[in-house]
Amino acid sequence: MQILQRLAGNALQFGRTIHYSPIINHSMQNEPNGDNRERNLNFLEEIIEDDLKNGVHKSILTRFPPEPNGYLHIGHAKSICLNFGLAKKYGGKTNLRFDDTNPVKEDTEYVDSIQEDIHWLGFDWAEKHYASDYFEQLYEWAELLIQKGLAYVDDQSLDEIREGRGTVTTPGKNSPYRDRTVEENLDMFRRMRAGEFADGSKVLRAKIDMAHPNMQFRDPIMYRILHAHHHRTGDKWCIYPMYDYAHGQSDSIEHITHSICTLEFDIHRPLYDWFIEKLEIFPSHQYEFARLNINYTVMSKRKLLQLVKENYVSGWDDPRMPTICGFRRRGYTPESIRAFCDRIGVAKRDNIIDYSLLEFSLREHLNKVVQRRMAVLDPVKVIIDNYPEGQTEMLTAVNNPECEGDGTRQVPFGRELWIEREDFMEVAPKKYFRMAIGQEVRLRYAYFVTAQSVEKDAEGNITCIHCTYDPATRGGDAPDGRKVKGTIHWVSAPHAFDAEVRLFDRLFAVEAPDDVEEGHTFLENLNPNSLKVVTAKCEPALAEQKAEIGKWKDGIVRYQFERMGYFCTDRDSTPEHPVFNRTCTLKDSWAKIK
Ligand code: ATP
Ligand code: MG
Repeated sequence: MQILQRLAGNALQFGRTIHYSPIINHSMQNEPNGDNRERNLNFLEEIIEDDLKNGVHKSILTRFPPEPNGYLHIGHAKSICLNFGLAKKYGGKTNLRFDDTNPVKEDTEYVDSIQEDIHWLGFDWAEKHYASDYFEQLYEWAELLIQKGLAYVDDQSLDEIREGRGTVTTPGKNSPYRDRTVEENLDMFRRMRAGEFADGSKVLRAKIDMAHPNMQFRDPIMYRILHAHHHRTGDKWCIYPMYDYAHGQSDSIEHITHSICTLEFDIHRPLYDWFIEKLEIFPSHQYEFARLNINYTVMSKRKLLQLVKENYVSGWDDPRMPTICGFRRRGYTPESIRAFCDRIGVAKRDNIIDYSLLEFSLREHLNKVVQRRMAVLDPVKVIIDNYPEGQTEMLTAVNNPECEGDGTRQVPFGRELWIEREDFMEVAPKKYFRMAIGQEVRLRYAYFVTAQSVEKDAEGNITCIHCTYDPATRGGDAPDGRKVKGTIHWVSAPHAFDAEVRLFDRLFAVEAPDDVEEGHTFLENLNPNSLKVVTAKCEPALAEQKAEIGKWKDGIVRYQFERMGYFCTDRDSTPEHPVFNRTCTLKDSWAKIK
């Protein structure tokens, strides 16, 4: 893992961030052979199709194996889409298995959130399991390996064991306890289980080869002593299996056909196979793909936990977090995340995906499905001097130009409006087509107006813009055919309601927040301006969410605020105090800054 991170970091240092390109990605990842190239299969699909064709498996069973020690992040989404997606494509099934072999960091809060997130993403598992359910079976198999002379109890300290492993270039040394008899090993191991020994005083190791070129084979640790309370098994166990001993056998118990994991586990694969072979159990196989890395974010659960615990964010579901629940609260849709995961494909080499690709997938989906509304985030008052005082008229606005079925709504219009402060300049520079003194613009769905004068406060801030309107342009077009270059949004001042709007920016200010020199931390790369809160003026239809809510299974109502971006209701929102989150802007505003 660290090596991969370092590699990723280097790529960035030298300005070689691998930006997404569908063409490069496919040739790079899959290197498919003739027939499959046309069908665009990734390497996992090729393997599965071959296995099905050759009768290696009648049907496939994959699994998603999270450790319940944190909330799921977008990297996990990739793994979920892959495991569930492959099974779905080939008529197979997927299990959810909690890899809960490390009692210290695990918690039921995480177990619950993981299930919620998988469901939200649109997937359901065939069976739900816990690695801890297999503790008894794993223990019995460990005794079996002892009986076969393939495992022994080692009394060395962890430091001594580490020392004795040797290095990549030098062989390791046999432990002085390596040649214990089967009887002695069995007795010791049983007493380990019975709780007779202190933490760290003994381990069970596989007896393989201390000079093996693959370090994983130098008598790997299978069990350690840990007098710790487990969130499911309580105090029943005081020895816990290591990942390498637990994972493959858990796959095998469930008859997983294709055990898909990230690249850093490729050196573990021979050991995965070794245990299965020696135990003569169902031959699950492991396949590795490149983990998802995205720029401008961190994705290790340890670091995400630190952000939460030390209050750099409001929680795991802070809308700036790269967690699935963070993206959900931010207003992302499951469809957009699935589309993103599809689009990046399955790589065999580590790379870094540009954050903007995620936003691209998001906009592509939201554009099709959300209704448009008008809200002014930074309001300045407009008075139309020649509009009759006290008059209100209802104008017709299109809800979603991408979906006729969404129909239209009525928007109140009158003499006093709010517009965006940035949509007015007293003197328009070249190419500024919005409102300026003497420059005619269209108010969306309403009329052509021309600014005539402004009022200012003592500091010189504009407090009010006086305009005139042309009654003949009702609906937004001039009967004489004259054109305007700018169209701006607005809300009627007496009808508007106030809402808190949270504007988010990237949580980190640099592309590779993890890439820090010794003595520094990724926390120094946090973006100090990642959250801005404003009070917006909203059109009345934004208060009527009941009609819209049925469309969204997750209860989050999403909109496009015309010209301002995509927004959604936040869970803090109440009728008395509405709160909207900005999901993203309409265009990639970041690309311009870079
Ligand atoms: P982290 O390093 O963030 O703690 P992890 O790999 O320890 O992640 P697990 O809960 O063990 O987290 O992961 C569950 C599954 O998700 C594993 O199969 C793992 O390979 C996969 N996974 C985790 N992170 C990524 C990622 N960035 N891209 C793709 N798959 C991932
Ligand atoms: Mg893990």
